[in-house]
Amino acid sequence: MKECPNCHEEMEDSYDLCWNCNYSIIEKKVVKITETEEGDRDINCIRCNISLKYAGKYKFHEGGTPGFFGNFFELFVNRESFELYVCPRCGKVEFYTSV
Ligand SMILES: [Zn+2]
Ligand SMILES: [Zn+2]
Repeated sequence: MKECPNCHEEMEDSYDLCWNCNYSIIEKKVVKITETEEGDRDINCIRCNISLKYAGKYKFHEGGTPGFFGNFFELFVNRESFELYVCPRCGKVEFYTSV
């Protein structure tokens, strides 16, 4: 075990990122890890048979209606938010409503 230099929590030797404060040993600072956020679904592209990449969560009451959704958007109008998954190979997009 080693110790986080920032919050002095114990860290696994194999980890370079503190689980407690997100301090990165490599970058020597506390990092934001929101960009590595994972979706809670494991979905494969039916065409490519590879995992879809989680592309984020979208809320309707933030920023109004995104233009490119068009009529499709109305399907989700009663939902709080939905999750967007994209196939990195063919670009197929899947939407899932989230609770
Ligand atoms: Zn720490
Ligand atoms: Zn695909």
